[in-house]
Amino acid sequence: MNKKYLSTRGGQHDINASEGIISGLAADGGLFVPEFLDDIHLDLTALTGADYTTVAKAVFSEFLNDFSEEQIDACVTAAYGSGKFDGDCPVALKKIDDRHFLELYHGPTCAFKDMALTILPHLMTTSLAIQDIHKRILILTATSGDTGKAALSGFANVDGIDIIVFYPKDGVSVVQEKQMLTQEGDNTRVVGVVGNFDDTQNGVKQIFSDRDFEKQLADKNVLLSSANSINIGRLLPQVVYYVFSYLKMVENGEISLNDPVNFVVPTGNFGNILAGYYASKIGVPVGKLICASNANHILTDFFKTGEYDRNRDFYKTISPSMDILISSNLERLLYDLADRAPETVTQWMDALTAAGAYIVKADLKAKAAKGFWAGYAGEDETKAAIKSMFDENGYLIDPHTAVASRVYDDYLEATGDGTPAVILSTASPYKFASSVYEAIFGAVPEGIDAFGVLDLLAEKTGTAIPNPLKGLKDKPDLHHLVCEKDEMQGVVAAFAGERNAL
Ligand SMILES: *Cc1c(COP(=O)(O)O)cnc(C)c1O
Repeated sequence: MNKKYLSTRGGQHDINASEGIISGLAADGGLFVPEFLDDIHLDLTALTGADYTTVAKAVFSEFLNDFSEEQIDACVTAAYGSGKFDGDCPVALKKIDDRHFLELYHGPTCAFKDMALTILPHLMTTSLAIQDIHKRILILTATSGDTGKAALSGFANVDGIDIIVFYPKDGVSVVQEKQMLTQEGDNTRVVGVVGNFDDTQNGVKQIFSDRDFEKQLADKNVLLSSANSINIGRLLPQVVYYVFSYLKMVENGEISLNDPVNFVVPTGNFGNILAGYYASKIGVPVGKLICASNANHILTDFFKTGEYDRNRDFYKTISPSMDILISSNLERLLYDLADRAPETVTQWMDALTAAGAYIVKADLKAKAAKGFWAGYAGEDETKAAIKSMFDENGYLIDPHTAVASRVYDDYLEATGDGTPAVILSTASPYKFASSVYEAIFGAVPEGIDAFGVLDLLAEKTGTAIPNPLKGLKDKPDLHHLVCEKDEMQGVVAAFAGERNAL
């Protein structure tokens, strides 16, 4: 078995995990995938009853081919065993009526991106040590909200790594902006960009593709990297909670070992659900992976028709982290389903770039349908799902989770499949307090601002505001920089110089 990674587009192979984690994207534009995926057979019997860090270590040991057990141990303990998460266990599996909600939002920023971004910095510093690279890493991230804060929180005060987060000045929620602007850590910088998210993201992409600039930074001993969801260092940590929640279902007597479980996943970039697919490949008995989208249902259409077509209207919804027209991680699934033929994947991705669309053959569509079922929920359906879950069960769910819960209703109606299901809860309802409040109680009373809604929601539902969001309003802003799109590169150069002079 060749325990290495290769690019979905065929341009790179024999890559170690540490190299993949440092570079993020492959040089040919493809995504790194483990060549040995089919050779992994996790011993679920041995892991039954194990705690989260033990399961995490077992999963990472299979994938991080050039990390030692000690290094894996240190990364896992730093992320999940050191009080960064609320409670004894980083995740919670709650049974509400006959559904199981896997709460992935008890981390420092109250969204599931913490599951990966608490460990990525440690995977990255370890990778640098393995590769014997003695440069400072500068992480650049463009965010439309959740990723930025989770990345800042993960990388704050990590030795040898600095991070700049760019966000569209008027394109994130008040709470999200406040979460970012109050970020501590000398190695962090948060910068508002005049423009929308696309401008911001394009600005970051331009910086990454500027070879002269890369060289200029290299002369200053700085290496640019990214923390976005195509990095295998973000994907692998997500495999862990599929394994863990499956074992919990066994432990709780909901199923017997080896019985199937369905997973319902609110999907945007396809990273979370792809981790579920990887979990199924390494031995977790997954029935169906149910791909839930919002009004931007390009993935639902793809699974139904075999055509991926981004030439369509874009909607801003109350589940903004799923407002996506290019689901980057789908490329990894396509690669696997297309019998790992990089030429085929490259053709599709070229067509996507050139014409905004590609079509897969009927046999591939049929293969996908064996493992996946896809559906979507519009805005009214999402709000209704939030309200009925609270009215009937006293349980609060955020809009992303509500999309999944509603799509699961549709799945049950369409298939009658009684296999036990786990719904992945990706954000605290308090992160989207206004939408949640409105869905349940109607318009927010006048005079109540974005922070006041948190208190009101707590008061009216008898639930508690999560610690990281409590008192946010009164925290001082530590970042004040706003720039134009064409000034972004200058901001990066200045920060790199400043940090390097230390
Ligand atoms: C990022 C995000 C998603 C989508 O996850 P993908 O891995 O991009 O599919 C869903 N819900 C929330 C709250 C998120 O932050």
